[in-house]
Amino acid sequence: MSAVTESSVVEAVTKELFIGGKWTPAGSGATFPVSDPATGAVLCEVADASAADGLAALDAAVSAQADWAAHPPRERGEILRRAYDALLARQEELALLMTLEMGKPLAESRGEVAYAAEFFRWFAEEAVRIDGGYAVAPNGTGRFLVTKQPVGPSLLITPWNFPMAMGTRKIGPAVAAGCTMVVKPAEQTPLSMLALAQILADAGLPDGVLNVITTSDAGGVMEPVIRDGRARKLSFTGSTAVGRLLLEQCADKVLRTSMELGGNAPFLVFDDADLDAAVEGAMQAKMRNIGEACTAANRFYVQRGIADEFARRLTERMSALPIGRGTEDGVVVGPLIDSAAVAKVDELVEDAARRGAEVLTGGATVDGPGNFYQPTVLTRVPADARLSREEIFGPVAPISVFDTEDEALAAANDTEYGLVGYVYTNDVKRALRVSERLETGMVGLNQGIVSNPAAPFGGVKQSGLGREGGTVGIEEFLETKYVAVSL
Ligand code: NAP
Repeated sequence: MSAVTESSVVEAVTKELFIGGKWTPAGSGATFPVSDPATGAVLCEVADASAADGLAALDAAVSAQADWAAHPPRERGEILRRAYDALLARQEELALLMTLEMGKPLAESRGEVAYAAEFFRWFAEEAVRIDGGYAVAPNGTGRFLVTKQPVGPSLLITPWNFPMAMGTRKIGPAVAAGCTMVVKPAEQTPLSMLALAQILADAGLPDGVLNVITTSDAGGVMEPVIRDGRARKLSFTGSTAVGRLLLEQCADKVLRTSMELGGNAPFLVFDDADLDAAVEGAMQAKMRNIGEACTAANRFYVQRGIADEFARRLTERMSALPIGRGTEDGVVVGPLIDSAAVAKVDELVEDAARRGAEVLTGGATVDGPGNFYQPTVLTRVPADARLSREEIFGPVAPISVFDTEDEALAAANDTEYGLVGYVYTNDVKRALRVSERLETGMVGLNQGIVSNPAAPFGGVKQSGLGREGGTVGIEEFLETKYVAVSL
């Protein structure tokens, strides 16, 4: 194999639309640039789809649906399994590609490629486990035959923060269930998805099953595709604001929806916690993906007895993190996605400081090119600070102190979001009590990472609808059909 270099991995990607199994330029011939967030340099140009291209992709998905639904589940699973093998075989080049377009350190990109691949392995196994039922009707005369069928052509919209895994988490179950797809990756990180499309084609995915459209006009392209009515499903990962808008658009033709939206995760540390483990978990929950994760700990609530020591240790760890371009050895904190993200993080920190929070470390942008922000710890953060309510999406850890369990839970649940919460305690009863009372879809109990392809991922309240991964993940792409049988 030739050496993996920055230019070779970018060159290897076909930067066109993938429709009906063929690479094709945008109908208008337009392109848009993709940039490296660490330097601002343009990496390449990618086809810029219009609404007409979006509808052409939908045509291809609709045409392929009936054959694909009839494709043997075992073969659907084997395609995923081959793609899983290919992703791992090409982990190094795909990780570099991801770091170039998204910014995260190479070690994290390698981790994401493995995590993304795991969704394919998991759903390869699920493809052959789609079950049904046969039952005697209560009156004893009739019979109920229950079977599962693919939902049909599905629209998948993914964010920039996990450019590949947020795709495989949807594509895996859609392929396993027998649904065709139109995928729209984020404008800032289309390359990982384009590379993935080629890998799936090479793994034997039939033409038209997966269609990928890249565009600088997400709303203009997707709204007509959603409102067209031939797609039967929208699976979206992104912000709550955009999710809300898409739910409205889906209501028009009553599309089924899965919504993986924003978060505002509380991280609770009780006096009886293992402090070393809590600090380690805090670093993972806060700094994975440079803080740009829906699962990122957004608010730390620490019980008074250990609050000062927790803040001291977290500050020590955060201030020692090497910042730089994700391609450099040893870098842990890469750039944020763009200058607007840096400005927002800075604004949230300033707002908290104005309201009385103390900055223990960081609290400023980094001079020079690229979108860097210093790892930051704030303490004495008041409840009315904006960062207690809004997703920070950056390397900032705000700490507040609490006295009682009830007080901690009230603060943790005082948000319209409900994706994940973290709890550190060595008291078993408290662990279960608090886990049950947290208004979230997921809880990290004495651990700072919850994501796992074999577990059901998703939120409650305004963090979303539905679950991805686990045994329920495939259900999002299946309809239940009941046949009433007369004997
Ligand atoms: P975003 O602005 O909502 O964008 C997400 C995707 O939606 C992108 O592909 C975007 O395209 C597209 N989009 C934007 N406006 C649209 C419209 N009017 N119609 C159709 N598509 C549209 O979110 P983001 O900034 O990329 O991602 C960060 C957000 O995602 C955070 O809130 C984070 O919490 C959430 N997230 C949630 C999960 C989860 O599993 N719950 C996982 C990861 C991220 P363009 O980029 O081309 O505009």
